[in-house]
Parts: sequence; C-alpha cells; structure tokens
Amino acid sequence: MKTTFNVQNLVRANIKTLKPYASARDEYKDATTSEMIFLDANENPFENGVNRYPDPQQRSVKELLSTIKNIDSEQILLGNGSDEVLDLIFRAFCEPNQDNIITLPPTYGMYAVLANINAIENRAVLLTKGFQPEVAAILKEVDENSKILFLCSPNNPSGNSFTAEIVEDLLTKFNGLVVIDEAYIDFSEQNSWLEKLAQFPNLIITQTLSKAYGLAGIRLGVCYASEEIIKILNRIKPPYNVNELTQQRALERLSKTAVVANEVSEIKQQRTLVLKALKTVSCIQRIHPTDCNFVMVQVDHATARYKQLIAKGIVVRNRTTQALCENCLRLTIGTPLENQQLIQALIEISL
Ligand SMILES: *Cc1c(COP(=O)(O)O)cnc(C)c1O
Repeated sequence: MKTTFNVQNLVRANIKTLKPYASARDEYKDATTSEMIFLDANENPFENGVNRYPDPQQRSVKELLSTIKNIDSEQILLGNGSDEVLDLIFRAFCEPNQDNIITLPPTYGMYAVLANINAIENRAVLLTKGFQPEVAAILKEVDENSKILFLCSPNNPSGNSFTAEIVEDLLTKFNGLVVIDEAYIDFSEQNSWLEKLAQFPNLIITQTLSKAYGLAGIRLGVCYASEEIIKILNRIKPPYNVNELTQQRALERLSKTAVVANEVSEIKQQRTLVLKALKTVSCIQRIHPTDCNFVMVQVDHATARYKQLIAKGIVVRNRTTQALCENCLRLTIGTPLENQQLIQALIEISL
C-alpha cells in the first residue's frame, strides 16, 4: 500500500493550467442514442457509416473492457495504439530538458524513442543476466526529476515476466509513476497487475489489442490507472484519437472473448511444441523462458542465421545488437504450418 503519493506533484505546470479543447461531441454527447438533428459539427449529413465524428470518449468500447477486466470505465483511457498512450504519459508528466525516465534494457524500443522525441533523459539500467530488474541499481539512478519507471512484463524481447516481489518493491520505493507494459499478459501464466491498481496510486498499466486480440491493424492501445491519472491524460489527448472503424472492430472482437481465448490457447499450445522442437536444432545454444507469443533464442551467429532464414522465406527478428542479447533471434509463434516450416528451416541451415 502506498499512502503518501500525490500525482498532482508530478504533472507539468503547463498541463495543470491547460484549457482542453472541447469538441462538438464533448458538448453534446448522446450522438448515437438520440433522435436529435445534428447540425453542430459541420459533418456531411449523407449517411455512409462513417460520416459522423466518432465518440471522443469511446464509451461503448470502454464499457465492454470495463466488464471484461472488472474495472471502472473512469479508470480506462484508449489511444491510437499503446504508442500513443505512452506518448501522452510523457507529455503529461515529463518536462522537456529537465525530467528523466528510467528504462531497463533489453526492452521495448519505444520508451527510449519517445524519451528522445520529448527531450527527456533516458536513464538505462540493465536487467540482470536472468532478465530481472535490479532494484538497488535502479534506485541509485533516481533523483527528484525521475518521473517514470518503465517495466515491460512480460518483457520484449527476452520473453520472461518480472517476479511479483521485485515489481512490488519498485512500486513501493519509486515515488514517480511506474508504467507496467502488459502487451503480452494474455500469453502469460502470471496475474495482471490490474487488481493492484487500488493499492498503488502511482501504477499505470498499458495493454493493447495488437497481440492476443489479433487487431494490430486497427491501432488500439489501452491504459488503466487511477481515475485521477486518467483525468489528467484525458485533458491532453487529441479529441478524436480513436477512429470510428477502430471502435467498431474493437467492439466486435471484445464481444467474442471465447474466440480470442481459443486463439490464445492454440498459440500457447504451439509455443510448447516450438520450444520442444527448438531443443533439437543444433545452431541454437540457448532457449530463453517465455511468457509471450514469441521466444528468444541464442544461436551461434545471429546475423548469418537471420540471413539464411530470409533466403528460405522466413523473417524473424535479429536482436543481436540489444544489450544482453548477443547472437539472439526473436521468433514469433505462427500458425502450425508456419511453425513447422520455421523448425524445418532451422534444422536445414544447421546441417
Ligand atoms: C507490441 C508491443 C506493444 C504494442 O504496441 P501497439 O502500439 O499497441 O501496437 C506495446 N508494448 C510492447 C512491449 C510490445 O511488444
């Protein structure tokens, strides 16, 4: 439990005093349910399915998510992919050329890119060899301008989850915001940190429809946090950041949770088979534990093996330049046939 935390102390001064843009649909909200004549937003009146502006608060999508995840709608913010959500967090809380964030390589590259774009110093603290955060080393980097700590768990590209004790220790001891990126949580046996939101007012959780939900193309990222944090982010988000087509497709998919669960289950079964088969491939020296829909393996010569796979028509991700990932390839779990072809190709190039 964290008791002395006040998020208002972290908000940038200009954001605190900002007067948000009020769109037509903010002023009169009941666009979908009412029989009113809408002459307020300069839209083309002839119906084609998308001639109207979308709901700026995406209330239907949030209602579904609220039920599925058992969390209040007021604790949800949606964005054009997680990447927009993460950018909003930077812009609300990090003062350019003054504040810093802490990231734990090897990890998702966007945190560093967004820090760069927003002119925020990125203090990188390497994970341990077992890809866990090192609490003492992290806390040593913290000063009064450290606004955000990014924890990607399960982590991309290593694939493992951080242990709950370490995450809880960081949530307690770090007095800025802790963003836990749960892009891969649906493939993991670990619990989501969602149920701990009430306990940690500095916790922000991001998820996405891009991986388990199979909707990378519609760009829908989800942020869960205290109502207070969500209110702050809502003040700065572009009014119509999630388009109508995206909202429709998300609603469709979120109302078919059994279909999604089946696909996730099949991917996890395939993951088990792939992990077993990889053990027989002689160019693979190490298979890292995974809670994700990918596995990171260490091979003899990553760049050579990467090129050989390309020549066989298979594209994997070469992570050899990332910290602690020397000679590592990241392999996404595909369809059963794709996985067989990957294994076959790996066996052939190993001969
Ligand atoms: C794929 C991925 C995302 C997803 O980003 P979107 O913008 O929602 O597609 C977020 N975080 C991590 C760690 C990822 O690997």
